[in-house]
Amino acid sequence: MLAYIGLGSNLNHPKKQIKNALIALNSTKDVKVVSLSSLYQSKPIDNSKQPDYINAMCQVDTYLTALELLYICQDIEIKQHRVREKKWSARTIDLDIIIYGVQVIASKQLIVPHPQMMNRAFVLVPLAELEPHLKVPVLGAIQDLIAKLDISKLVKL
Ligand code: AMP
Repeated sequence: MLAYIGLGSNLNHPKKQIKNALIALNSTKDVKVVSLSSLYQSKPIDNSKQPDYINAMCQVDTYLTALELLYICQDIEIKQHRVREKKWSARTIDLDIIIYGVQVIASKQLIVPHPQMMNRAFVLVPLAELEPHLKVPVLGAIQDLIAKLDISKLVKL
């Protein structure tokens, strides 16, 4: 199954955090990182006083189920010492499953396509860089989703 995972970090050497998370993902049994977007710099969602975020998107080829993949992502977050404080607070690393094949999932633990993806330039732009003609399950063409957003503050590194 092809899936897309969004990565974000704004603490403790963000670029290194993203690199380490990618290495960890790729070293997971039955997970292969196939492609990686450029890195992007974005402002915190709530404009609070915390460092800018570095974001990226990767495509993985996996035999894991979506839920197994979520557990792997959460394990990597824990290993990289993500401390869960309040929502949208600064974090060493955040891994979100954005798309899992054409599956539409709405369970207690996992919602796919990611429920906030259409509101986030730092998700859509790197995703479109990897897959410019992507049709997102339920949501439609990625370029149409991007056209509805202000992407001017997103900086490609
Ligand atoms: P966050 O703090 O943004 O990393 O959110 C983590 C919580 O979101 C976890 O409890 C997950 O079970 C839940 N979640 C729901 N859908 C997703 C998804 N597509 N990717 C990652 N986490 C998800």
